[in-house]
Amino acid sequence: MKTQNSKWTVLSLVTAAVLAVSIALASGPLFEAQPAGDLASFAALQPIDAHVHLYKDDPAFDSLMRHLNLRILDICLIDDRDPYFKRMEPQRSDVLKVVHRTAGRAVFCTTFSPYRFEEPGFAQSTIHQLDTDFATGAIAVKIYKVMGMEMKSKAGKYVMPDDPAFEPIYKEIADHDRTVVAHIAEPDSCWQPPNPASPDYDYYKQNPQEYAYAHPEWPSKAAILAARDHMVAENPKLRVVGAHLGSMEADVTQIAQRFDRYPNFAVDTAARVPYFMLQQRDKVRAFLIKYQDRILYATDLVTMPKDDTQKALAEWNKTYERDWKFFATDQKVEYMGHSYQGLALPQPVLRKIFHDNAVHWLPGITGKS
Ligand SMILES: [Zn+2]
Repeated sequence: MKTQNSKWTVLSLVTAAVLAVSIALASGPLFEAQPAGDLASFAALQPIDAHVHLYKDDPAFDSLMRHLNLRILDICLIDDRDPYFKRMEPQRSDVLKVVHRTAGRAVFCTTFSPYRFEEPGFAQSTIHQLDTDFATGAIAVKIYKVMGMEMKSKAGKYVMPDDPAFEPIYKEIADHDRTVVAHIAEPDSCWQPPNPASPDYDYYKQNPQEYAYAHPEWPSKAAILAARDHMVAENPKLRVVGAHLGSMEADVTQIAQRFDRYPNFAVDTAARVPYFMLQQRDKVRAFLIKYQDRILYATDLVTMPKDDTQKALAEWNKTYERDWKFFATDQKVEYMGHSYQGLALPQPVLRKIFHDNAVHWLPGITGKS
């Protein structure tokens, strides 16, 4: 055993050395002196990340945001399968601490618990809570995939996002000129057999309770997206940003169809940038140029109160570097053992995706509104 261990150590050292040399060669001479050098042109756009879950109040995140000229939408969600997300507290207070710490570079996106939807006074008390959150600075309201995939009525029916119980709440959000961030449904792979080549393979392995393939009794993805579309159509005055490419990650044509149908609908790229890499480059590029007013750059970075700050910062930097390289340059980007050529989008399109669209679809994101 001992010998084997030593052998492994030597091998890892060699691998690490080779890796270090390759990184140094690939990144050029500026790598040592200025690790964030690649992000100078990113920072120049005053980028906005429209989908983040930062619950850790640490000055290091404020420094990073200042350094990158970055604003974020800091999002709450309710999921009764996770102890931290079961209720509005402590996540709401944690987000408000981050908002305060960053002097408003992080902006509060609230949510509400949909689970009590059959109780009398549900809409009224939810509206009361949202109005309080709006007064506290919330500019958007997240609705979550438990609608359609987990939550059932007392009669045993899966509850969809277009359930009439939610209608007065959507109306209230529109009346206050706030935006809905709709994480409804999941990637196609959630309904498919395990496939190690899928970007989501590890996620469903770690979260089997969210894996629709293991729950054949759940509604189909098509049925859930139809309910989401119906809710968007029924509320033409409500801005809806479909999180995670509106769960139409596998084919930009599906997103384009919705954009053509619903002028009040946009999407964020949270956690789905790799799906752009997996599609045909020319098609994705043409789509982003044609619908340049409807796509909001976003990451879905998650940092919990107990997470290690240094590790988190490294992940944030790495994510912004990879994404910026992919959208802004024609260089090769590595993902899951393959390399993909960057999209080299025109500067005016980058400006919209990384800044202007968030300003338009999330009024208040820059603090002025
Ligand atoms: Zn998210």
